[in-house]
Amino acid sequence: MWRSPGCSHWCRRRQVYGQAMPFVANYHTHTFRCEHATGDCLDYARVAAAAGLAILGFSDHTPLPDGRWDDMRMSLAQFDEYEAAFAAAQRAFPQMRMLLGLECEFAPEYAGWYRDEILGRRGFDYLIAGCHYTPHDGRWIQSFGRLNTPTYLKAYARYTIQVMETGLFAFITHPDIIGCSYADWNDDLTACAEDICAASAALKVPLEINSYGFRKPWVPSAGGERPAYPWEPFWAIAARHRVQVVLSSDAHQPEDVVAGYDDVAAIRDRFGLVEADLSHLGSTSGVRGPGSGVA
Ligand SMILES: [Zn+2]
Ligand SMILES: [Zn+2]
Repeated sequence: MWRSPGCSHWCRRRQVYGQAMPFVANYHTHTFRCEHATGDCLDYARVAAAAGLAILGFSDHTPLPDGRWDDMRMSLAQFDEYEAAFAAAQRAFPQMRMLLGLECEFAPEYAGWYRDEILGRRGFDYLIAGCHYTPHDGRWIQSFGRLNTPTYLKAYARYTIQVMETGLFAFITHPDIIGCSYADWNDDLTACAEDICAASAALKVPLEINSYGFRKPWVPSAGGERPAYPWEPFWAIAARHRVQVVLSSDAHQPEDVVAGYDDVAAIRDRFGLVEADLSHLGSTSGVRGPGSGVA
């Protein structure tokens, strides 16, 4: 189903990024600690500063207290070091507004950890939620490519809404990763998108248009090859619900901090979507707690 990363489409897209208009703010970047990214906070900050980014948010994959899914996230032992690396980048580029965050998986047993330890004691500026796994019938289903039945789509929508209802997360990352599981749009996808977008609008939790999908292998479909996400039919439904959006690069390497702005901005504009105001992030978080690794 996937194109090889060496395909001509993929390479052509990548060449565009060097000329693309940059993001003004990007709240979705990673570091080497998650085990599938490269570079540290300072490397990302250098690229952001050179591109004239005003706001840079770090949102590496959160450590979890029980070590679940430990092959795609930092360990608890790296937590203080992540905060220290953020503080060093902040010191190096004092003119840039930098925010310290995490990209999280939600399960009810983690609610206290996110609220009391990370946002509370450690004083992180924000959390974002990426529903990379979907709970169903007592197990977790990979959301990237395994949501291939109506039942699983319903479970994904139900879970994403539950995550929004917690009020813990500034926005939902790539809600349209359902595009990894299907070649073409269908009525079950419409129902899934309708439910997620209605909840987003009602709960006022923005949804992210994520440019990483443009840099991943594209998916063959009846209308030609397309990125697995962003998937335009989803955003047409989002527009009808007047969902607010966040544009992000989801950078997993420093050179991608401002990658793909033109692509995600084009989707925003094609459907008349409005960007969420996230200027409140960081303004309510206090001094980071003792032992947090940040002075
Ligand atoms: Zn990642
Ligand atoms: Zn991410």
